[in-house]
Amino acid sequence: MDTQMLIGSKFERGTETEEAILNPRTGETILNLPEASPAQIEAAVAAAEKAFVTWSKTTPAQRSGYLLKIADRIEAEAAEFARLEALNCGKPINAVLNDEIPAIVDCYRFFAGAVRSMPGLVAGEYLPGHTSMIRRDPVGVVASIAPWNYPLMMMAWKLAPAIGGGNTVVFKPSEQTPLTALKLARILADVLPEGVVNVVLGRGESVGNTLINHAKVGMISITGDVATGKKVLQAAAKSVKRTHLELGGKAPVIVFDDADVDAVVTGLRAFGYYNAGQDCTAACRVYAGKKIYDKLVADLSSAVSTIRYGRADDTENEIGPLISRRQRDRVASFVERASELKHIDITTGGHPGDGGGFYYQPTVVAGALQEDEIVRREVFGPVVSVTRFSDVDEAVGWANDSDYGLASSVWTRDISRAMATAARLQYGCTWINTHFMLTNEMPHGGLKQSGYGKDMSVYALEDYTAVRHVMIAHG
Ligand code: NAD
Repeated sequence: MDTQMLIGSKFERGTETEEAILNPRTGETILNLPEASPAQIEAAVAAAEKAFVTWSKTTPAQRSGYLLKIADRIEAEAAEFARLEALNCGKPINAVLNDEIPAIVDCYRFFAGAVRSMPGLVAGEYLPGHTSMIRRDPVGVVASIAPWNYPLMMMAWKLAPAIGGGNTVVFKPSEQTPLTALKLARILADVLPEGVVNVVLGRGESVGNTLINHAKVGMISITGDVATGKKVLQAAAKSVKRTHLELGGKAPVIVFDDADVDAVVTGLRAFGYYNAGQDCTAACRVYAGKKIYDKLVADLSSAVSTIRYGRADDTENEIGPLISRRQRDRVASFVERASELKHIDITTGGHPGDGGGFYYQPTVVAGALQEDEIVRREVFGPVVSVTRFSDVDEAVGWANDSDYGLASSVWTRDISRAMATAARLQYGCTWINTHFMLTNEMPHGGLKQSGYGKDMSVYALEDYTAVRHVMIAHG
């Protein structure tokens, strides 16, 4: 197993506080990894700064070639990447191997193509006797900070557009899930010129905090909690750094009375509980029409009670445990507080799983009201609430009445109603008769406190490059 950080072309162990890296399926420690010292962080930023001088002058075709090589190497070692991600996150091995790794490989391949064909305004004489043209140039050294829910995928979403756009990167994985980043660091050192990507380990409050306050960092890209995003903004304000924020979510799911109830149940069973609900787009906040409500709650509860987890043969599991005991206890306390309310009915689940792992039962919270904590706050666990609505204005009003604005969905057989409702939703994405589906050609990102950074698509390349105007006087 790779345990060393990548700083320039050197592999080094951190020298500071050790973090226990756990197996969430058992609660056992896999290994302890020390975090980077201030001097190691300094060296990583310096290596990125030095590499920027030549990397920023490479052609799109050259950078595209590097991205394709990274994709090929991940694909060739897919089984080992999947094993490590499953071990460190508790994800079912099949979910990593069949869902995540192909999407990760495709992310690098998408940006390999996109960087060669960025769209933009045409050059021309917008003032007589002067030719104007638009350039898109890299920003500089990007500090990239990732969360624990999809470690290797978040790394792909951050690295591919950043280095594709000509930037260099100091990457910090979550202190809880560094294993796949350390393995990828070996490949990056093989494939890329020295210093283009550096990988340092450590906690947010120490290593993360040093990175976001570093004078030589030109841009901070972070996926994480809203509170962490606010700290990034405060740090960025001091030297006016560019920021790319992907924060939390609390996705509303509006189910009209005419929806195909079987399709809704199948969709919610999959998209509300995937990755044990540790997903910022999880279909977790259902608003159901008066007529469909009872059948939806009954059918959903019985479908959710069949979700397979915690089996010894991991290939049978559909979802895994939560990432940590702390996260499991947090989820449990949300459900406990909800269950104390008279109008709420926990129709399936509602308890931690058995054994030493950080499992929580897939849970349906029926009868929730708009003001309830379970409807308003991000639980980030396998818990879906269902709330009854009486008309479309109420449903849209409640859906938009949220601090978050990342993802949403509308379920109906009436396409006019679907389009009219989608147009009124204040979310970065609205799915119709599905949820959760992402594709590298389309942007992923939010509104409001979900942040404003766009991952995937050409919009990510725009986020990681600066628009510049060059004007030539004809003389
Ligand atoms: P977190 O905010 O605690 O940590 C995210 C990363 O930020 C970690 O690497 C952490 O070490 C670092 N960090 C924490 N404090 C920091 C600080 N003061 N300075 C610099 N870095 C700091 O979030 P998490 O618990 O790892 O991840 C779960 C959260 O991420 C959820 O809220 C979830 O909704 C969100 N998320 C959002 C998206 C999205 O695309 N919008 C995707 C995945 C996860």
